Formats: sequence, structure tokens, C-alpha cells
Amino acid sequence: MIHFLKSFSLWELLKGLSVTRKKLVAKKITIQYPEDKTPQSPRFRGLHALRRYPSGEERCIGCKLCEAVCPALAITIDTDERDDGTRRTTRYDIDLFKCIFCGFCEEACPVDAIVETRNFEYHFENRGEQVMKKQDLLEIGAKYEEQIAQDRETDAMYR
Ligand code: SF4
Ligand code: SF4
Repeated sequence: MIHFLKSFSLWELLKGLSVTRKKLVAKKITIQYPEDKTPQSPRFRGLHALRRYPSGEERCIGCKLCEAVCPALAITIDTDERDDGTRRTTRYDIDLFKCIFCGFCEEACPVDAIVETRNFEYHFENRGEQVMKKQDLLEIGAKYEEQIAQDRETDAMYR
């Protein structure tokens, strides 16, 4: 009898429509990407960058801690000694197809040289472009330095 009454009054349909009505007036959670962007945490892990000191000197001292800690073996570093006796990298590659964006490299770096920026909007068009070279990483660092420095400051209490 109950089943008959429910069928007769289109109960299931009305129940479904009540969900539609509720969602119609609820606050929208979708955004119009790419015009609108969702908020990002200062700890967002996007495209990598290598930083310089304000003097222009590279921060990276070629200690290879980031290479050692990388679980995906995405980082390849070669180093050499400079004329002034300091050590610097002669090669710093990150294969972004291998990288899992875990952030271990930036956590391990003693001089905040390798960081992950907030940039997630990038693409590659040719084979091999996914391997970011030292020069590419330094250029990204220069481009986003202001945002990176600000995020390091905000994030300081967690580091
Ligand atoms: S984010 Fe993780 S996987 Fe990617 S390069 Fe750094 S340590 Fe390796
Ligand atoms: S980026 Fe940091 S951890 Fe990696 S080699 Fe340079 S100084 Fe060492």
C-alpha cells in the first residue's frame, strides 16, 4: 500500500527535486577558471625555482642534499670549485615528469636555494623540455623572487 501511494504521488521525483531546489539557492563553489583563481597557500608546491641573494650571487652551494633526498630521483647535480674556492653547481636539472612535487628538496636545502613557486600554469611542447636546466630555474627564481620571499616569511613559523 505504501509503495503504491509513493508511486502515485511521484514521491521519488519530488524528493529528487527538493535536492535540486536546495542546490539552486546554495552558495556556488565552482569558479570561472582561468578568469577566477582559487586562493593558494603560501606553502603551495608548483614549478621549481633556484634563488639568488640580493647581491646576485647564487644561493645554491652544491651540497646535493636536495638530490639525495628526492624520492623520485628527479634532480641531477654536478658541481665544481670556483677560482675563489667556493663550490657551485655546473649542472642542476630537474625532470618535472619524474617529480611528484613532494617539497622534500626545498625542505632539505640549507640555504633556501631550491624552492617551489606558486606557478602551476605551465606546459611543454617538445620532448625534453620537461627537464628544467639550471638557467631556466634561475630565471624562474628571478621572476618570482618577490612572491617567494614573501611566502618564506609568512611560512617561517612552520619551517
Ligand atoms: S618536489 Fe620532491 S620529487 Fe620533486 S624534485 Fe623536489 S624532492 Fe624531488
Ligand atoms: S639547492 Fe640547496 S640542497 Fe640542493 S644542492 Fe643547492 S644548496 Fe644543496
